[in-house]
Amino acid sequence: MTVLMNGKALEQKILEQAKIKVIELKKKNIVPVLKVIQVGNDAGSNSYIARKIKSAALVGIDSEHIKLPETVSEKKLLELIDSLNKNKKVHGILLQLPLPKKMKIPDLMELIIPEKDVDGFHPINQGRILLGEKAFISCTPQGIMRLFEEYKIDLTGKNIVMVGRSNIVGKPMTSLLINASATVTVCNTKTKNLAEHTKKADIVIVAAGSPKLLKAEMVKKNVIVIDVGMNKVEGKLCGDVDFEAVKKKSSYITPVPGGVGRLTTACLMLNTIKAAEMQEKK
Ligand code: NAP
Repeated sequence: MTVLMNGKALEQKILEQAKIKVIELKKKNIVPVLKVIQVGNDAGSNSYIARKIKSAALVGIDSEHIKLPETVSEKKLLELIDSLNKNKKVHGILLQLPLPKKMKIPDLMELIIPEKDVDGFHPINQGRILLGEKAFISCTPQGIMRLFEEYKIDLTGKNIVMVGRSNIVGKPMTSLLINASATVTVCNTKTKNLAEHTKKADIVIVAAGSPKLLKAEMVKKNVIVIDVGMNKVEGKLCGDVDFEAVKKKSSYITPVPGGVGRLTTACLMLNTIKAAEMQEKK
């Protein structure tokens, strides 16, 4: 029997936990504050941000969507981030990606100070994740680890194939898996024979942005499959896994929608609360 891993239910559980934590903080007169910066009007970004703002309101986080026009200068954007970095009333800052193509900002991931980097993208946070130290863990990998916990999937000694090596998903995910004592193979577009790797895996995590990349013949029976992909095909949202076919061979699998995507925003709320707790302790 295949278990569908229910991201929506886990999201609700995490948001409930977050709500309770915010109530506790408010008793100490601390209100977590999150600023979400957007440049331009990308449709995907609009809907991701709307969900973040909605979740923040639900758990009691004070959030603001700062929407800058596509024509804003890099200087103006950097000044805004700098002022938010320095503002003691702001605990978490998030710069929604992608930025407009014309913006070429060097060291983009270093603009938000590590203490307020609730996305966990800053090299200091990424480095700490790799070292297994306390850090803001990038929200999507954090959500996936929560999913493993929720379904009591022990990663120790498991052969895991991570398809994708992006800075926001593949790399931090790999760090977390290594620290959980899994044996990890990381694949990318130059990988010679992807199926050769995925066929041997106990767990396959796909974050490639390529619809139906993982097919049934590429996995072994009873595999666990985590689909991070979010693609639009003929106006419909789908993942990176040929879901119906792969499901038949899987012991556990995440659907798209309703799987990993729901957890990213929920983990952002946890990171914002953690940022408020840490900064107000000082
Ligand atoms: P990305 O920056 O484009 O990285 C994609 C990675 O996949 C790259 O490392 C690329 O290899 C690799 N790749 C692509 N096609 C491949 C193939 N055929 N075989 C092997 N490797 C392949 O993307 P991302 O930001 O990590 O996002 C990946 C997907 O997850 C997207 O669909 C995105 O929308 C989704 N996503 C979802 C969430 C969520 O909350 N659910 C969060 C973030 C992202 P190279 O390095 O060689 O190019």
